[in-house]
Amino acid sequence: MMLQPQTLLIVDDEMLNISILASALSSNYRILIAKSGAQALGLLNTDKIDLVLLDIVMPEMNGYEVCNRIKSDERTKNIPVIFISARDEDEDEERGLKTGAVDYIRKPFCLPIVAARVKTHLELKRKTDMLEQMAAIDGLTHIPNRRKLDETLELEWKRALRGGQALSLVMADIDHFKQYNDNYGHAAGDDCLRRVAQALASTLSEPEDFIARYGGEEFMAILTKTGHQRAVNIAANMIKNVSDLKIPHAHSPVAPYVTISVGVATTTPSSPREIPRQLVESADAMLYAAKQRGRNQVQSKDLTGC
Ligand code: GH3
Ligand code: MG
Ligand code: MG
Repeated sequence: MMLQPQTLLIVDDEMLNISILASALSSNYRILIAKSGAQALGLLNTDKIDLVLLDIVMPEMNGYEVCNRIKSDERTKNIPVIFISARDEDEDEERGLKTGAVDYIRKPFCLPIVAARVKTHLELKRKTDMLEQMAAIDGLTHIPNRRKLDETLELEWKRALRGGQALSLVMADIDHFKQYNDNYGHAAGDDCLRRVAQALASTLSEPEDFIARYGGEEFMAILTKTGHQRAVNIAANMIKNVSDLKIPHAHSPVAPYVTISVGVATTTPSSPREIPRQLVESADAMLYAAKQRGRNQVQSKDLTGC
């Protein structure tokens, strides 16, 4: 497998320092540069960065402050920071490491040592990224797992609360899947789950739409900035996409092929006292209603304005 080159952000107010570091490291990594803390934070917001080489003494915002901001932002806190500084007191190094940096290199620096340390930390970052990715993916279906779902729901809930936007949940469950397993075997059941997961995922259209395996043969989509109508449309498309797979299910009382039932709930979070759990329960109740009313259908509840 070809690995993407990793990206290094060099932050220093002295262009000469940047040039020396960049020329020594650019053959192995993609290099971005920033001449101030503010510029660095801007790049950290827009680019995927794997490691930051950070000067401490800079006008306006110093390196400690930049590091503090990196470490207190959920989106950037796992990016390793190495300080490179002319401040050579032990207290400076201690402060740097306590701010959350993984390493501290004193100026004047020795280029081969900087390169070696950068290499070590980037290899570690590669492994951490891989572990994090593996911990978020369901091994069978290769879509996000329950853990990632819970995490995403917390984040999207807070975002919807801040932005005053609607948030929809779509919960889908395969109909009579126990029968399917009993008749076709567990391996065929696994295969069916994989195909259904892909069909559900392919129903989503926006980059921010998210779907995960919720449990056994249940899936949940989190649709941010999505009102009730779009959520219900997506649910209907999910039903169609799964039916269109035409996976034979001779023992289903609903249809001769595999079908799903879907529950949808939409709300606009308005009070911090509300919790996402209630929205999950509403979607679950709608799924239950869809099962009760004959399966292979959508039931939905719009809680916006309640
Ligand atoms: P309903 O229409 O009411 O949803 O009925 P159902 O049979 O689909 O629901 P039930 O909850 O009774 O059964 C779910 C089945 O899903 C039972 C379980 O063996 C199966 N299952 C759960 N996880 C997996 C899995 O990873 N692989 C396979 N092959 N089967 C699974
Ligand atoms: Mg089921
Ligand atoms: Mg179930």
